[in-house]
Order: sequence, then structure tokens, then C-alpha cells
Amino acid sequence: MPMETDARHAVVVGAGMAGLAAARVLADSFEAVTVIERDTLSRASAPRGGAPQGHHVHGLLALGAEVFEGYFPGLRAELEQAGAPVWDWGEKLCAVLPKGTPPPTPMGMPIQTFSRPLLEHVLRQRVTALGSVTLRDGLTVTGLRTASPGKVTGVRVKDGDGEDEIAADLVVDASGRSSHLPQWLTALGLPSPRTTTVDAQVGYASRTFSYPEGQAPPAWMGLLQPLRAPDFHKGCYAIQIENNALHVTLHGAKGAQLPHGDDDFLAYAKTLRGPIAETIASLTPTSSVRRYARTVNRKIAYHRLARWPDGLIALGDAVCTFNPAYGQGMTVAALEARLLEQMLGNRRARTPLDGQEFQKRLARVTASSWLMATTPDRAWEDARPAWPVKAGNWFMNRLIDTVPHDPRLYTAFSGLFHMTAGPLTLANPRLLSSVLIGPRPASTR
Ligand SMILES: Cc1cc2nc3c(=O)[nH]c(=O)nc-3n(C[C@H](O)[C@H](O)[C@H](O)COP(=O)(O)OP(=O)(O)OC[C@H]3O[C@@H](n4cnc5c(N)ncnc54)[C@H](O)[C@@H]3O)c2cc1C
Repeated sequence: MPMETDARHAVVVGAGMAGLAAARVLADSFEAVTVIERDTLSRASAPRGGAPQGHHVHGLLALGAEVFEGYFPGLRAELEQAGAPVWDWGEKLCAVLPKGTPPPTPMGMPIQTFSRPLLEHVLRQRVTALGSVTLRDGLTVTGLRTASPGKVTGVRVKDGDGEDEIAADLVVDASGRSSHLPQWLTALGLPSPRTTTVDAQVGYASRTFSYPEGQAPPAWMGLLQPLRAPDFHKGCYAIQIENNALHVTLHGAKGAQLPHGDDDFLAYAKTLRGPIAETIASLTPTSSVRRYARTVNRKIAYHRLARWPDGLIALGDAVCTFNPAYGQGMTVAALEARLLEQMLGNRRARTPLDGQEFQKRLARVTASSWLMATTPDRAWEDARPAWPVKAGNWFMNRLIDTVPHDPRLYTAFSGLFHMTAGPLTLANPRLLSSVLIGPRPASTR
């Protein structure tokens, strides 16, 4: 039941992960929620133009899976029914790290892997099944509707039939990396927000494969070979997903020449350490190679604007996007929806959401993920980074190098990576001394 407020109608711009998660929590507080999506959406699960990242490996971190499951009870089972495997991270991940591969380590950390289009499809069905949510696809938001520069009262939209306006008590910009909000705000005479970028110039090239009849899939369910400045320019992610497919993303940082097409995908894989080339050599490609290069970390400081209009918030990639190589975007979108839920729930009855306060708190929600992604990426940008970056990277690299030799450290690191544990996990003297002593010689699976 919506709580008693004057909040009658919320409009969400964009039906990506952040938009769908936001719509789910808004449905508890608003009488009606309209999600506007510029793509014409298919009834099946398929990559689409407005979310080109759907062609690439999308891993959902354990914390993100937990938050989504809370909002959509039974989600994991539904995805499993659609063929998405559930497996134990410690036992079934093959992590090809610079100083070795950790042996299988039971951690009790179940992970589920699927394509991004499948997750989005299932979430979209769940959200539109909520009586109060309407999804209008094939409709582009072109600007904000305002009563005055200080008050947003809806959005302006356009489709093949022309232009129109939709009134709303709250507008949520969840339009992703291509958000036009900075321009929309300046058009209202509001100051331009400061944008910070950190770019490791990571490129992606991805492809899906099937197993020929009679061929067993590899023993691992996920393969991870991370990039690291300055020496490890090339890496990969591979996960087993629905339809018994293997989804493979090859990536490269600054200067790495990514595969251009179907012919050089295997050749690039052969330049990597670890088992990826050997695995895909005998598989049947089921898609052509897709590339993606807009992986810059970008943060727009809406939280620092002195003035912010009532009736508006922004979240998801529209505010803060991370180099996807760290796999954080969907989980952060889920955490931002949780913040929205908390703030909507904490309002006194009949008071509107404080948008400016929301942006301030959102900046705190994204802060640690921003640091996790940009600290290593600054080392790609600048060969002689500032000392805090250097110190942070020294510690992190030492930790990752020690992980193959210390199961407890591997477990603690996995908790950090999946955001189920905070940095204080490493304050344990036994773990800290393990990191400081560093790796022991050669240990591989
Ligand atoms: C290559 C790549 C790989 C990634 N891998 C991972 C991963 O492994 N794990 C992970 O957690 N995250 C990953 N991410 C990040 C993840 O995709 C996003 O962080 C997440 O989807 C949240 O995004 P969003 O909803 O804010 O934006 P999106 O999901 O991009 O959705 C924005 C939506 O808004 C729509 N839209 C845009 N403008 C308008 C408009 N004017 N009117 C109406 N609709 C509009 C778009 O069509 C789109 O549907 C990856 C990203 C990329 C690029």
C-alpha cells in the first residue's frame, strides 16, 4: 500500500538496472510510477541499442544479488529456472592472478551467473507486474518540465507521433551514461555540475560460445584474469550462463590492441596466461564479436550544487559510472535504490523527498566503489601517481599477490570484492601480517 503523502506520480527516465530498481521502491510510496524508455523493448531477453553493454559479461556481486532478491523475492529461483547456474565462488572460480591461481577454497558464497539481458528481462517483468507501474517504451525524454527553475513538474517526451509532456511529482533520472541531465539543468539556469573522470582506456571484446555435443563444460564456472598497471595490459572474464553458454569478454587497458572481429578473437585469447584460449578453441561461437570502449570512470558532482530543483533526483550511471572491469555498476544501482527506499520511508507524512539531500547521501553510497575502481585506474592514467594512490595500489597489489597462498585472505578479499564485507575485515592482525609478509614462491592450481 502506498504511504499517505502527496506523492501521486513518479516518472523514471530509463528502464535499465537503476531505473527498474528505483521503480520497484517508488511503487511502495507513489500511487503511480511511469518508467519511460527510449528503446522499443522486446518481449524476449535480448541485447538492445540503449544498453549496448548487454553484449558483454555482466557479473552481479553477492551483495547486489542479496539486495535484488530482497526486492524481488524468488528472483534467484526464477533465474535458475531460466537456466542461470548457481555456484560457489571459492570453489568454482578460476582466478588467474599475477602471482598464481588460488586453489579451490570453500567460502559459502553462492554466486549466480546469467546474461545482462536475462536479468533485465526478469526484473522488467517483475516491475511491470506491480499494479502501479507502467512502462512506456519507444519514448524519449527530451527535457524537464518546470514550474520555475526551482521546481521540476515532469518531463518532456518525444516519439514518432510528436512531442508531449508528462506531469510528475518526482522525476528520477536513471538514463545511464548518456544522461543529458547536466544540459537540462543548465537550461534551467542552474549551475553546471563538476565532472571527474579517470580513464584506464579499457576496451571490451565479447562473444558467446556453446559446447559441441558430447563436450563437457570446463570445471570452473567463472574465469577471471584482471588487468593491472603497469604490466598486465590484457585480461578476460568468462562465465557460464543460461542456455549452457559460455560468455567471454576479453579486455585490454591502455594500448592493448583488442580483437577487431571474429578472426582474431582466439588469437588475442592465446596471448593471455590461463586456460581461456584452450577452452574456447574447441567451442562453437554463437555470436559475432562485439566491442565496447566507453569504460571511463565518471562522477558528476550533483551533490555539490548549491541549488537543486525540487521534484528531481538522479541515480545509477547517470550520476556515477565505474570502469566495468570491477563489476560494481548493478550492485551500486541496487544500493542506491535502497537509499531511495530509506529516504522515502523516513519522510514525515505528506512531505516531498528532499532531492538535494538524496544526492548528498548518494555520493556517500558510491564513495567506496569509486575509490576501488579509480585507485588502480589512476595508475594507468599516470605513471607517477600521487602517494595515496601509490600506497593504496601497493597494498592492494600485495594483497592480491598473497591471495593464492592464503585461503583466509582469499576469503576476506572475496568478501571485499563482492561488497559483503567492508575494509575493516582486513584490520585483522593475522590477515594484515599475511599481506605485509607477502606471497610465498610459486603456487598454482
Ligand atoms: C561493457 C560493460 C560491462 C559491464 N559489466 C558490468 C558487470 O559485470 N557488473 C555490473 O554490476 N555492472 C556492469 N556494468 C555496468 C552496468 O551495466 C550499469 O552500471 C548498470 O546497468 C546501471 O546502469 P543504469 O540503469 O544507470 O544505466 P543503463 O543500464 O545503461 O540504462 C539506462 C537506460 O536509460 C535509457 N535512456 C537513456 N536516455 C534516455 C532518454 N532520454 N529517455 C528515455 N530513456 C533513456 C537507455 O536506453 C537505457 O535503457 C557494465 C557496463 C558496461 C558498459
